[in-house]
Amino acid sequence: MRAMVLEKAGSALVYKKMPVPEPAAAQVLIRVLACGICRTDLHILDGELDRPKLPLIPGHEIIGTVVKSGSEVRDLAPGLLVGVPWLGYTCGRCKYCLEGKENLCDNPLFTGYTIDGGYAEYTVADARFCFALDESCRQPGSAPLLCAGLIGFRSYQMIAPGAKNIGLYGFGAAAHILIQIAVAQDKKVFAFTRDGDISAQEFAKKMGAFWTGGSKDNPPGILDAAIIFASAGELVPKSLKDVDKGGQVICGGIHMSAIPGFSYDLLWGERSLKSVANLTRQDGLDFFKLLKQVAVHTQTELFRLGEANEAIARFRAGKISGAAVLVMDELPSSG
Ligand SMILES: [Zn+2]
Ligand SMILES: [Zn+2]
Repeated sequence: MRAMVLEKAGSALVYKKMPVPEPAAAQVLIRVLACGICRTDLHILDGELDRPKLPLIPGHEIIGTVVKSGSEVRDLAPGLLVGVPWLGYTCGRCKYCLEGKENLCDNPLFTGYTIDGGYAEYTVADARFCFALDESCRQPGSAPLLCAGLIGFRSYQMIAPGAKNIGLYGFGAAAHILIQIAVAQDKKVFAFTRDGDISAQEFAKKMGAFWTGGSKDNPPGILDAAIIFASAGELVPKSLKDVDKGGQVICGGIHMSAIPGFSYDLLWGERSLKSVANLTRQDGLDFFKLLKQVAVHTQTELFRLGEANEAIARFRAGKISGAAVLVMDELPSSG
């Protein structure tokens, strides 16, 4: 099979031919249809997440078809469409697993980080951590749902249900999915982009934002809650300043630059600050159930597997509207 491989942090991915992996007893072998590129992949490539398996096949937004099941797999038969998320394995025995907080497991494995992921024609995954998907998801545009969608959804669930005015800081893959859910639930979304990024602001408007502006701008009205998807630490005091008493600021990214010091009065008034780590399988079940009621359309830019380095460069430069997705077969003619 063909794969894009990270051999060393800080270097470009290498296009390689490798043997198709054999599924272990609890695993399925998946023919990858598409794999999204997530900001977390950049943090791994750059060494900001510094414990990858090496060499590594990155990618944790995988859509594909089961081609072979391990001997212990009961429910995922060949031919079934599945999604593979970031959470690749949990121990089931640590205190977090036993409390239903498997996203915090002490002994986890992560797809495309500590186990091989989906920048390849085939991958193996633990069947217990795959999601069986509707046939309607059999398209590259569904790949970003597996992380951008899921992490946005988990972040959204951390804010008070009654929150009406919601700030989204960083308008990329996660925000453009989440805004569709929030708008369907009658929320007013205030989208903050990099300062002066007019095209991202126009994109947010098109996706239903009530207001758009740069990260330093003051929104016209006070926010009930904020979700930060960008990895810029200075957004923490800025969003606390924008949020009303009792409001939540949720950090949705896995890595953030240093947070500058700020005055206690920004946090005062029972404002809270919380990070979102990983996902649970229940998040996935809840999210894909919700998508049966709320129609979500992703905007994607498609690339061939061998173009992963170019795709990553465009993503890094902020040139992707929505999400970048690698497609294993030929690109659809429109893309
Ligand atoms: Zn555990
Ligand atoms: Zn991700």
